[in-house]
Amino acid sequence: MHHKEHKMSGLTSMYLRALKFVSPQFFDKECKTIENIGLRNNYPKTFIDLAFVKAKKCFYRTSPREIFNPSNTLCLSYNPDTERLIQPLNKLGIKLVFKYNHTLMDSLVRNSPIVKEGSVYAIKCTCSKFYIGQTNIHVNDRVSQHQQCVRVDDRSNALNLHYGNCNHDIMWNSPVTLININDYFERNMLEAVIIKLSWENNINIKRGTYVIDDYLMKVICRQFKLVNLMEEKGVGH
Ligand SMILES: [Zn+2]
Repeated sequence: MHHKEHKMSGLTSMYLRALKFVSPQFFDKECKTIENIGLRNNYPKTFIDLAFVKAKKCFYRTSPREIFNPSNTLCLSYNPDTERLIQPLNKLGIKLVFKYNHTLMDSLVRNSPIVKEGSVYAIKCTCSKFYIGQTNIHVNDRVSQHQQCVRVDDRSNALNLHYGNCNHDIMWNSPVTLININDYFERNMLEAVIIKLSWENNINIKRGTYVIDDYLMKVICRQFKLVNLMEEKGVGH
């Protein structure tokens, strides 16, 4: 027996998982399966629909994401002992975040026939502008998701907006992997740096998860030789 809120969040998370991980061609079938699970558990149809609406709101939300400040943050592998450090570190003004070695996402991705291949990637348009993104799934699968956004005219998708404004073709068949990187924090950090570095030439509408100050920008660009790398990959200035 579960509290009503728990039932709702259970269904919402199933829908959210479907939105995040299920390929477009299987999406409707997956939604039907989730709906049937709800119906079999005697949830009213309106209740199930509401869970789907909540999941979509969460998935497509365009409000600014919480800004992560890397300068006062320590990232450690999770275990019950490190968890005890949260409060003492907090008193020193240091935020502790955990890396999990075995997350739900890992197992979901591990089941996939494709090897886990987190990356920062670029999708080019023949007009020479390009889109920068990061993903924890294979870049070709991420490209399919962007194409789906164009099909449904998702106005929060940068490639869809560019597609609507530009007379050239987006080069869907040749996405460019800039860097393979599986670590979530590093990947998001690099994405934000690369977006900032190429802001004049990219078609992104958001600057990424992290706000990158000039110092961090300099350090990361140097460490990953980003200017050269972007030049080599054909997404330079
Ligand atoms: Zn274009």
